[in-house]
Amino acid sequence: MVKIRYVPTICPYCGIGCGLNFVVKDDKIVGVEPYKRHPVNEGKLCPKGNFGYEFINREDRLTSPLIKENGEFREASWDEALDLVAKKLKEVSDEDPNKVGFYACARSPNENIYITQKLARVACGTQNIDHCARICHGPTVEGLATAFGSGAMTNGFDSIKKADVIFCIGSNSMEAHPLFGRKIIQAKQNGAKLIVADPRYTPTAKLADDYIEFKTGTDVALLNGMMKIIIDNDLQDDEFIEKRTKGYQEMKEVVMKYDIEKVSEITEASVEEITKAALDYGKADKAAIVYSLGITEHSHGVDNVMSCANLAMLTGNIGKEGAGVNPLRGQNNVQGACDMGALPSDYVGYRKVEDQETTDWFNEYYGVNLPAKNGLTLVEMMNAAYNGDLKVLYIHGEDPVLSDADIHHTKKALANLEMLIVQDLFMTDTAKCADVILPAAGWGEQEGTFTNGERRVQCLHKAQEPPKGAKLDWEIMNEIAVRMGVPKEKFSYESSEEIFDEIRECAPIFAGMNRERLDTPEALHWPCLSVDDPCQPLMHKDKFAHSHGFGLFQALEHLGPVELPDEEYPLILTTTRVLFHYHAAMTRRCETLDNEVKTGFIEINSEDAKELGIINNEIVKASSKRGEIEISARITDDIKKGIVNIPMHFSECAANMLTNSDSFDPKSKMVELKACAVKVEKIPEV
Ligand code: SF4
Repeated sequence: MVKIRYVPTICPYCGIGCGLNFVVKDDKIVGVEPYKRHPVNEGKLCPKGNFGYEFINREDRLTSPLIKENGEFREASWDEALDLVAKKLKEVSDEDPNKVGFYACARSPNENIYITQKLARVACGTQNIDHCARICHGPTVEGLATAFGSGAMTNGFDSIKKADVIFCIGSNSMEAHPLFGRKIIQAKQNGAKLIVADPRYTPTAKLADDYIEFKTGTDVALLNGMMKIIIDNDLQDDEFIEKRTKGYQEMKEVVMKYDIEKVSEITEASVEEITKAALDYGKADKAAIVYSLGITEHSHGVDNVMSCANLAMLTGNIGKEGAGVNPLRGQNNVQGACDMGALPSDYVGYRKVEDQETTDWFNEYYGVNLPAKNGLTLVEMMNAAYNGDLKVLYIHGEDPVLSDADIHHTKKALANLEMLIVQDLFMTDTAKCADVILPAAGWGEQEGTFTNGERRVQCLHKAQEPPKGAKLDWEIMNEIAVRMGVPKEKFSYESSEEIFDEIRECAPIFAGMNRERLDTPEALHWPCLSVDDPCQPLMHKDKFAHSHGFGLFQALEHLGPVELPDEEYPLILTTTRVLFHYHAAMTRRCETLDNEVKTGFIEINSEDAKELGIINNEIVKASSKRGEIEISARITDDIKKGIVNIPMHFSECAANMLTNSDSFDPKSKMVELKACAVKVEKIPEV
């Protein structure tokens, strides 16, 4: 008899965290269905949620450890591969722990990520642990923590349905976070006004009541201009500013220099559009800001984030429903990866490395002697590898060859290492560069938790066995630690639940989360300080998360992108995602999704295309100071003149061959993925 089961889990793609059920036939995942009672997605899924399970049972899953010899991979036993990895990690970290680095996986459950940072800190004695938030929402963590005392979204997702005005800047929610996009549509049906500011006339912009087309990288100027109009019209919330914030006068002094004409010149947006948006936002009782990578992926990403925080505090739009600053997180568990301490500056629960008392606490808890000194960020680790200062890099489930800026730079850096260890499901572009590959279990093959962008910690369930030969991530890392000589009792977990219990001991924000409370469709939001804590999604209600309780305004000047267009490279390249893909390793292995968008393209404004003599679908050459690609042209009026856009998923015409790894945000080390100078040319016929 055929046996069908339905196993609840959470979508593995974006940070919205939709609930779904695996459909399991004879102990094998054969499909999914939306989880009808789930509070986030209310019985709906986007294409990635519906069809993104197809990668799980692909024949090209890695099922044996691989060791590279003379440039070729050969199969190895687990014992041989783990011994080799443990020996090298021990040898190099004994010599100098700073020469070892770890990338944690923001798609993996919290428990795996916690163990990755523990392997780095406890087995190798290094603080060199980071993950891809550094090049997506690193500026959010830094910027919102500076302004509000916590680097997370201030409101729950459903709060948006209560907004009077939604100001969406640098976020194409309808494609990148479709089930949040649905909530924006519901908010509009409830009467909310939607204002979208974006250099591209995106599907989200097409829903807007008012659209501001503006130049990439001029966000602070635009936001300062809006704040000046709000102050000029006496629309600021004086009581909120007085009672709940500090630094207003210093911020105001800078903002008042941004006359609308000057702002219009910098941003290339119209005076009327900026003024109307400012007045609508300023007059609203409940105004919400929504942003994403269009704000963060800049060399001044932290300033952009703090500028959004300034606007919200100026108008008292913090600590209430329908308002707030709402960054939409990228990867499914990038919030969790930050929470778990996969950061060179933070232990689990955002406990600070540079705070000596905190490091003393962890040294005693873990039985180690870590320095109270921040480790290297992901960008700094890659640069250290490039310069020969990092010898071993352990990459857990990330694909920096595709996703980091400047692919040539990344490949050279990886080639410089004495050992690159990759733990993954598939032979990714990064795995191809590895010395040792460790095959891991994937989504649907393990228990654990993901944390979505509204800080909701949700349970995952195992629906099928991993392929023969693959192991659970935390089991692999347990074995490596023990082989390195770490006492077994420090890495002797039997289940993911046991790991989560340790997380609760180390981080007060998770203390009240037991399995029984978590394993419901509603789950729990952090902070969750005790088992009686109701764990509500709304933050900063009566006071901000800073220990002093105040929100901090920041005085911010417009700085603009580092690499500007010039005569040779006259266009600005921005990079985005498409609805049907999420990076590449998983969605490009899902036939239904891959059939929708099979390869990349470059969007060019029709006037620019005409000047260049380029026609639609023509294969053109796009180049920057770093490299060049051949790619199909998509001519459109939905992008501002002077700007071109390439989706980042496709390694055969990779946007990151062109992007710039040299210019990065000094505050967060975010590289400038959203703006670099390029040229586009016809390819001469031969
Ligand atoms: Fe998955 Fe995000 Fe789509 Fe929801 S919106 S189904 S979490 S990709």
